[in-house]
Amino acid sequence: MDKIKVGIVGYGNLGRGVESSIRQNADMELVAVFTRRQPDSLSSAVPMVHISEIDSFIGKIDVMILCGGSATDLPEQGPSIASMFHTVDSFDRHAKINEYYDSVHAAAAKSGHASVISTGWDPGLFSLNRLLAEVVLPEGKEYTFWGKGVSQGHSDAIRRIRGVQNAVQYTIPHEKAVNQVRNGEDPALSARDKHLRQCFVVAGEGEDLARIENEIVTMPDYFADYETTVEFISAEQLQREHAAMPHGGLVLRSGKTGKESKQIIEFGLKLDSNPEFTGSVLVAYARAINRFAKEGFVGAKSVFDIPFSYLSPKSPEQLRKELL
Ligand code: NDP
Repeated sequence: MDKIKVGIVGYGNLGRGVESSIRQNADMELVAVFTRRQPDSLSSAVPMVHISEIDSFIGKIDVMILCGGSATDLPEQGPSIASMFHTVDSFDRHAKINEYYDSVHAAAAKSGHASVISTGWDPGLFSLNRLLAEVVLPEGKEYTFWGKGVSQGHSDAIRRIRGVQNAVQYTIPHEKAVNQVRNGEDPALSARDKHLRQCFVVAGEGEDLARIENEIVTMPDYFADYETTVEFISAEQLQREHAAMPHGGLVLRSGKTGKESKQIIEFGLKLDSNPEFTGSVLVAYARAINRFAKEGFVGAKSVFDIPFSYLSPKSPEQLRKELL
């Protein structure tokens, strides 16, 4: 069997997570990692290549897994790389997903490639569970809780602020709110009622801390709708106390069927390493989009448009026998 030839674009936390996941998937082969930095400044067991040389890999790589940040990297890299390769990404700015989809779809359709956007766990596996719960319980209410954990997307967004050297953002669900939902109380919860956003920030010497804090707490889509705390700490403290990247969360739907039957659906994740887990989801979707591309599909898809069986290297017969 020919292995699926994969490239990674962007070598941050997620890029390294994808690299380790590819090792667990025997039908995949990592050809190269592409970076905007000096390739020889980064250590990796696979070839590191400067992104300016990416077009010389056309025909040598089946799928590019895009691991850039959603705030500023993917809006540019998503459509640009979809015009050269089949792609997978984990774009996570929920409010901008249709805009992003349109740009990737246009580039992929024009150049004859296939892309799947916004995979991962949220968006991604959580989105699938929201859809499933909604169709099964049309009369009901959906709740998503994140954490406690580090949100890479939010941490990345803080790191892009001028004067910020490093940052970690924890999302913390309010336990009272989770319990109300599990008890079937169907509470009306605002974003603020559900989560606290706790930020630890390392600022450059002499930076205006009040300006940085204000830019964080007022950032639309990311922090403006939440209770957000900002604490400035040293680089050493950040490294010592906040280097791990756990995460997780819950998708709940509380609904009714018949006259009085209360039904609750719950899907949860508890992750030691968010980037390694997210990387594993991206790798499964790389397999799926490669299969769609082979079948002649052109354009962009979201996780809603991918059948589960396409994620698996197993045959439909094997899946029916083992997992149905
Ligand atoms: P990072 O900040 O670690 O990496 C983002 C990019 O920044 C990299 O691709 C890399 O590009 C560059 N970079 C990384 N480290 C450095 C460095 N030390 N100095 C300079 N540049 C660096 O972000 P993450 O990998 O943690 O997250 C990427 C995105 O993944 C997030 O923005 C989020 O949107 C998404 N995500 C989605 C999830 C989902 O469930 N859908 C879950 C988790 C994350 P280059 O190599 O080109 O320099």
